[in-house]
Amino acid sequence: KAYSKEEIKTIVAQENVEFIRVTFTDVLGAIKNVEVPISQLDKVLDNNLMFDGSSIEGFVRINESDMYLYPDLSTFMIFPWATDSHGGKVSRLIADVYTADREPFAGDPRHALRSALAKAKEEGFTAFNVGTEPEFFLFKLDENGKPTMELNDKGGYFDLAPLDMGENVRREIVLTLEKMNFEVEAAHHEVAEGQHEVDFKYTNALEAADKIQTFKLVVKTIARKNGYYATFMPKPVAGINGSGMHTNMSLFTEKGNAFEDKSDEMGLSQTAYHFLGGLLAHATAITALANPTVNSYKRLTPGFEAPVYVAWSASNRSPMIRIPASRGQSTRLELRTVDPTANPYTTLAAILMAGLDGVDRQLEPTASVDKNIYLMDENERKRAGITNLPDTLLAAVSDLAEDPIVINAIGNHIADKFIEAKKIEYTSYRQFVSKWEIDNYLENY
Ligand code: GLN
Ligand code: MG
Ligand code: MG
Ligand code: MG
Repeated sequence: KAYSKEEIKTIVAQENVEFIRVTFTDVLGAIKNVEVPISQLDKVLDNNLMFDGSSIEGFVRINESDMYLYPDLSTFMIFPWATDSHGGKVSRLIADVYTADREPFAGDPRHALRSALAKAKEEGFTAFNVGTEPEFFLFKLDENGKPTMELNDKGGYFDLAPLDMGENVRREIVLTLEKMNFEVEAAHHEVAEGQHEVDFKYTNALEAADKIQTFKLVVKTIARKNGYYATFMPKPVAGINGSGMHTNMSLFTEKGNAFEDKSDEMGLSQTAYHFLGGLLAHATAITALANPTVNSYKRLTPGFEAPVYVAWSASNRSPMIRIPASRGQSTRLELRTVDPTANPYTTLAAILMAGLDGVDRQLEPTASVDKNIYLMDENERKRAGITNLPDTLLAAVSDLAEDPIVINAIGNHIADKFIEAKKIEYTSYRQFVSKWEIDNYLENY
């Protein structure tokens, strides 16, 4: 909703709001916030709230640390759960980060997505609509409130209680989301025990990214209230499915969905095929952003409904990109690599710019793969033009470093900081000796 400053002031007074949290996202995708008492509201609304950017991951050096937060008034909301003993409420605004010179900050992921959307607009695309399907696990908390590795239930795909103990928690999550202007379309138990999915309605990419960040906060908060720990880690338990965040997308012009063409045998427009061509061409670089942790690559392995190959299909669910059956205004592509550790702003910026590169260069996608790729041998895959997704974070980051289109989508500042941080993360992981290595090597050598 597009609130004016005056409307926000009125609501704040009526609802007894005592604090305002101004939030933003760092380069690695973590939500940060500056919380101020409501007496500072005018300062916040007038874009005069300052913070020290030097201690934020991937932001700036000490000598250029003063930054401003410019709140996006349409993101105003009151947290339904945070009420203190005398009924005071806490509200939030999502902000864009500006430098001391009052320029948009190049290290702000939200700015990167805004820039990509502006580029799409120049090409006549009035909206980039995104709907995600985030999955997560619920683990029990111990008596000290620390997460255990004990899952909350033994349920499976679409199971019902009493197997699905998470049902009450999930319901509370859905009800809370609805109070926060989410239109929840579906919520269900996922394939793995203790695993859940909540789908909310698609919206323009900037709002979709904001919603993903808010969603994670809600899920974690409500889970904890119920004695559980919610994790978006992609593969917390070996041997069972991991958690993805399938990302459905479509481009709109003033005339409607630009991916639809009724005269095509698959009902897809040239724009859709070219966008798909762009996604395939930049797939491995996008993966670094869409799957940004060491653990992400433990999900992208055969046998767990997660993609392993760069391919697309209309009928089969194993490839990286699927074309869901619905047409008309719901005509869309579903990218299945993305996992919930992705920074939604940079990931969506990269996806959009990769797709637009395909549209600009009229890239034709490889042929659709309509059989199970996991049953094809390497030669068959080669003949079908199917390549592998990167198998480690390091491989993905190297692909990103060599892809100027995806680097440009997130900007050099973010790209440099991201690549540097991820190389350090990978080195730190490599120095660790895992139980698997001890089990397989200690007594054999
Ligand atoms: N959990 C699977 C993944 O890792 C997806 C399963 C599904 O939604 N069908 O992507
Ligand atoms: Mg789903
Ligand atoms: Mg799912
Ligand atoms: Mg899906």
